[in-house]
Amino acid sequence: MPIDPICKNKVQEDTPYYTEYGGKLYRFCSYECKNKFDLLEKRVIRLKRSIAEQEKISFGKLRKDIIKPGICTLCGACAASCESIVIKDEQPRLIDKCTACGVCYNQCPRTITTEEGLVGRIRNAYCARTAIPELKGQDGGVVTSMLAYALEEGLIDCAIVTTRSEEEPWKPVPIVAKTYDDILEGTGSIYSHSMTLEALMSAIKQGMRSIAFVGPSCNIDAVTKMQKSPYGFLHLFMRANILKMGLFCMDTFYYEGIKEFVESKDMKLDDIEWMKIRKGRFEFQTRDELKVFPLGELDQYRSSSCKYCTDMASESADLSFGGVGTPRDWTTVLARSGMGYEIFNEAVDNGYIDSRLLEEKEMKNILNLAKMKKIQMYSLNRRQNV
Ligand SMILES: Cc1cc2nc3c(=O)[nH]c(=O)nc-3n(C[C@H](O)[C@H](O)[C@H](O)COP(=O)(O)OP(=O)(O)OC[C@H]3O[C@@H](n4cnc5c(N)ncnc54)[C@H](O)[C@@H]3O)c2cc1C
Ligand code: SF4
Ligand code: SF4
Ligand code: SF4
Repeated sequence: MPIDPICKNKVQEDTPYYTEYGGKLYRFCSYECKNKFDLLEKRVIRLKRSIAEQEKISFGKLRKDIIKPGICTLCGACAASCESIVIKDEQPRLIDKCTACGVCYNQCPRTITTEEGLVGRIRNAYCARTAIPELKGQDGGVVTSMLAYALEEGLIDCAIVTTRSEEEPWKPVPIVAKTYDDILEGTGSIYSHSMTLEALMSAIKQGMRSIAFVGPSCNIDAVTKMQKSPYGFLHLFMRANILKMGLFCMDTFYYEGIKEFVESKDMKLDDIEWMKIRKGRFEFQTRDELKVFPLGELDQYRSSSCKYCTDMASESADLSFGGVGTPRDWTTVLARSGMGYEIFNEAVDNGYIDSRLLEEKEMKNILNLAKMKKIQMYSLNRRQNV
């Protein structure tokens, strides 16, 4: 006997209430149920089809990403959107055929299903590198080139960049850079926390009012909070225009930890010319050779704060920069705010930077990395190892 898809009661084959939709005949017990179906259920079926056309996502993915890691809130949205799912023994369970329409995954409050949810709002994305011949950056040298352009054009009074300590090699030292030479001191990445906010406050106290600020997501968040919170310094009495230039970031390591690791591998920090994290590996270039280690080998030295961080792409910055996505020696640039977009494109137009639009497959790599970071907190294994 047919089942009324709305009230789930059995109905007679010859019921006068029926609708044909998408090549299938639906029977109802009453006019109300038929009306509800015509108004609502048809839309749901249409939605299921349009999601299914884009990507095959089955219940298995919901189980893997959300249910198994134990982050399901038992809200019931998945069960409410699919007859094949029931909540039983405090878990969503599949009791019938799954057509991989993806609807349950797209209703769940714990999944991340949009690009904006992964990397924040962006106006445009670029693959770029410096056009200044003598400049050698961490990736494409774009951060430094943009700072050089902004300083030389008088758009900023100074920039907050992080340099290496002279006394303790590879220890980060944030500075207020007022000249091109100061800015050049900051090229390259140092994989330890830098107290950039101290330098920013110092610049404002020195009377600087247009400042470019460079730092990873957590540093950018600190500036944003100081600007927006009702008790924030930058909101209350230290007014300044700040161009927030965020760096992509997956990890940092304790300075003493990096030192211990490097020495355990028969190297000296003093001899290291550059460090790079790429594709799950930590690269150390000494004067004589390139040494590469799996990132996992440095897990014990990872800053504890980074284990709880979910923002890979510096989502609240004006512009974000990273190495992932683009080929080696190029920088990925995400232009977010109007100001960030304008200054980046002006630097390109004035010959400081070469740039092209980011390709879709390059963007996919960025989204994958951002997703890894967003869901790292969900991983039980990682939590247990903290
Ligand atoms: C701790 C850290 C982790 C990172 N992790 C990733 C990652 O996982 N994936 C990815 O794609 N990209 C990551 N990046 C970004 C990447 O390494 C480059 O900084 C970015 O691609 C810009 O390259 P560039 O050649 O244009 O920069 P450059 O022109 O070389 O300029 C680099 C800028 O970074 C600043 N800087 C360096 N170290 C620090 C620091 N510790 N704190 C604050 N500012 C600093 C300098 O002041 C300088 O202005 C990370 C950067 C840092 C600092
Ligand atoms: S909504 Fe139902 S059919 Fe669609 S993917 Fe989820 S379990 Fe499968
Ligand atoms: S929609 Fe997500 S959070 Fe809600 S019950 Fe289903 S799996 Fe759990
Ligand atoms: S992983 Fe997060 S907390 Fe750690 S340095 Fe990067 S942005 Fe900051």
